This record gives sequence, structure tokens and C-alpha cells, in this order.
Amino acid sequence: MMFSCTDTQNIVEINKLQKVYKSGGQKLEVLSDLSLSVENGEFVAVTGPSGNGKSTLLNMITGIDRPTMGEVLVNGCPVHLMNENELATWRGKNVGIIFQFFQLLPSISLLQNVVMPMEFNGIYRRKERRERALHLLGLVGLADQANKLPGMVSGGQQQRAAIARALANDPPLLIADEPTGNLDSRSAESIFELFQGLVDDGKTMLMVTHDMEIAQRMPRIIEIRDGNIVCDSLPAPEIFSKSQPHTALVERGV
Ligand code: ADP
Ligand code: MG
Repeated sequence: MMFSCTDTQNIVEINKLQKVYKSGGQKLEVLSDLSLSVENGEFVAVTGPSGNGKSTLLNMITGIDRPTMGEVLVNGCPVHLMNENELATWRGKNVGIIFQFFQLLPSISLLQNVVMPMEFNGIYRRKERRERALHLLGLVGLADQANKLPGMVSGGQQQRAAIARALANDPPLLIADEPTGNLDSRSAESIFELFQGLVDDGKTMLMVTHDMEIAQRMPRIIEIRDGNIVCDSLPAPEIFSKSQPHTALVERGV
């Protein structure tokens, strides 16, 4: 490993992040001078209009994409300094990622989809993997669907399986990009409740959502416009990380 991790109190620490995309001689500044700290155990909604940099921000935290300038520390590890190999190993252990369109492999069972990240990272022993995957599928209410292919279950069930997969290596941080954007409202609600339970169990979670009814139920809401944070609701200490409704938005900085 070429990078070293320092001790930080915050699970996510972003300093003066800038991302510029260049295409056809044009430069597009998608994130500009964005700083953000997220403490262990927080449940954070990321909101804002389409095309304003939300996915780009999440992709910097997961190391799917690289900043042009600035720092991204996750658990004190400099994600922006890691090479592709380092990132692949690091990501598996440290971050669970949940996408809008689930991204399950279609030709293998839900169970195998959950086992796969364990095989890649090798944290759990070979003998334990299947049992752990079954346990995780049970946790998301899919114990009886484990051997089905993704195409044989509903969208809500596919997203549950994707959550089980994200939990495969027990990462402390979960990152979800519009996880309920492709679901009916009942499935969306059950996915949200699942996330709440995970946060109550100690996970930290950042979730992009356009659903303000859902966002308003999260303890902290960050609004992104034009590549920066224009609004950050700060949780009052007594409700911090308790997943209670919280409506007071505090303008910060802008
Ligand atoms: P959001 O998730 O808020 O809808 P994105 O972060 O996906 O926004 O995109 C922000 C802006 O960056 C958009 O204008 C988008 O077209 C542009 N963008 C995203 N990815 C790329 C890329 N790989 N190359 C060029 N432009 C990109
Ligand atoms: Mg997006």
C-alpha cells in the first residue's frame, strides 16, 4: 500500500474538493471547493436538482471517480491518492454501494450475488461465505428467494438483495445513489426502513434522494447546487443519529 491512513474522528472528511470534466475542449466544473465532514453513525440525505454534482460527489467518496483537486478521506484513508488496485481492495472492505438500478449480475442467483464480494475480498473464510450471505438475505427479508435469479424477483426485492450485497464485507459506510428512484412508494418505504435499521445498528449512510418526504425524515440534509453545498441541516445533539423527523434547515455559509 502506497498510502497511509490517519486517525480521524470523521468517517468522511472532504477538503476543498474540485472536479472538472473536460470534453471536446470544453471544461465543466462539476464540483467546486466543496468541503464536508460526516461523523460516524450519521444518516445523511444528499438532495438537489439533477445535474448538480450529487453522483459525482458520491463517486469521489467511493473512489469510482477521481477529484481534480482536493482531498477525500474515508476513515482517515486518502481515497484520492489510491491507485486502482488499492481502491478495489479498499472499497470492498470499507464502503457498500447501492445504485438506483441495483446492478445485480443477472445470470447468477441472489445468493451468489451476495457471496461474490466476499470471494473478492477474502475477509470471510470460504466455509463461512454462503452462510453469511444467507444471513444477510434473511436480514433484508429474502431468505426464501436466495436461489432465484435477479430477473425473477421484483424491483424492491432486487434492491434488498443489492443492500445485502453492499453489506457482504460488513463495511462501516454505505453510499446509496437514488436507491428508491426506481421503486414504487411501498417498496421505497421498506428500503428506507431497512436503511434506518442499519444506521441504528451503527452504520454511517449517505443517500442521494429526490424524495423530500424521505429526506425530511433523515437527521441531516445536504443540498447540492452548482457543485457546492448550499444548505446543510445540522442535527440538534439530542436527535443525532436517532433517525427522527427533522425539519429545521439551517443555512450554512452561503
Ligand atoms: P447529479 O447526480 O446531481 O444529477 P452528476 O454528478 O451526475 O449530477 O453530474 C453533474 C454534471 O457533470 C452534469 O452536468 C453531468 O453531465 C456532468 N458529468 C457527469 N459525469 C461526467 C463525465 N464522466 N464526463 C463529463 N461530464 C460529466
Ligand atoms: Mg445523479
